[in-house]
Amino acid sequence: MNKWDRYRISTNNGIEKGKIHGKKPQQSAPKSHIQTFANSLVQLSALEINVTEHCNLQCKGCDHAMGIIPKRKIALSAILTDIRKAAKIMHVRTIRIIGGEPLLHPELPDILRDIKSTAIADSLELWTNGKLLNEISQDTLDYVDGVIISKYPKVNYNWDFSLLNEYANKYNVWFHVRNCNHFAWNSLSDKISNPALVKMLHANCREAATCHTLRKGKFYKCVQAAFASDRLLAAEVEILDDGVQLHNNPSINEEIESHLWSNVPLQACYYCLGEFGAYFPHENWSDKSFVSSEHANAGFDPQLILPDSLI
Ligand code: SF4
Ligand code: SF4
Repeated sequence: MNKWDRYRISTNNGIEKGKIHGKKPQQSAPKSHIQTFANSLVQLSALEINVTEHCNLQCKGCDHAMGIIPKRKIALSAILTDIRKAAKIMHVRTIRIIGGEPLLHPELPDILRDIKSTAIADSLELWTNGKLLNEISQDTLDYVDGVIISKYPKVNYNWDFSLLNEYANKYNVWFHVRNCNHFAWNSLSDKISNPALVKMLHANCREAATCHTLRKGKFYKCVQAAFASDRLLAAEVEILDDGVQLHNNPSINEEIESHLWSNVPLQACYYCLGEFGAYFPHENWSDKSFVSSEHANAGFDPQLILPDSLI
């Protein structure tokens, strides 16, 4: 059975059992639905949703602060409440289902099905470290359009990557394997004291344009901002959270527009090197006891040459 034979999106945003013949549609919702609201919805290229906040790896410099913040499994109902609210405000080209490691969530297929039912996005991607890919359920592959695998150099994968050819054809899903041999360090626990430097980092940050995130009932410009206040608590630093409240917020549209387009740096930007953190070879710390000082601060890319006014 083709994945699109099993469910289709009904015009009232519910899931309706039914049959669509031929290839899967490009959009999750009927075209008329998108067009009706297109002018009043914020249009984004991508939105990240963290479905788990724990991981079977512990990469040094993880953007999502895995190993630093407390582990959290996010309830299906909480994810759906946020995504339904977001769907009233925005339309996105791609939803990225991310973690932690999303394949650790026992209700992942239900989460994917329910996100699809909101018609918030044209496509759904699953981002995984691939450790559990051989255990992925058919239902999960039925609901996603693509899978991005972050492949790390010293991690043992107990499955053969030729499996991806089989899955791609069997489930009509694309796969992209990213070799993540290096990480860029951008998380700081010491505040950057020069406001002009923070302004430069924010103004030149691609993550601010491409990594919008929903987390704990809030919308964030970037993933660093989504995790900053929790991450910094581990270093006993308190900052104002940058997120825009999704619920019970009468000025949500204006606040999201302003959050997205303002050239004023976020609170999180004072603790982040943005695009310019130094690269280092990937390290998995799963087998090590966690040493917070080793997770603290790193420097700029040595090839970034700053004028004195920014130092
Ligand atoms: S695989 Fe590594 S970078 Fe990705 S969420 Fe897990 S710890 Fe973080
Ligand atoms: S916190 Fe600021 S500098 Fe860091 S990724 Fe987000 S927008 Fe960029």
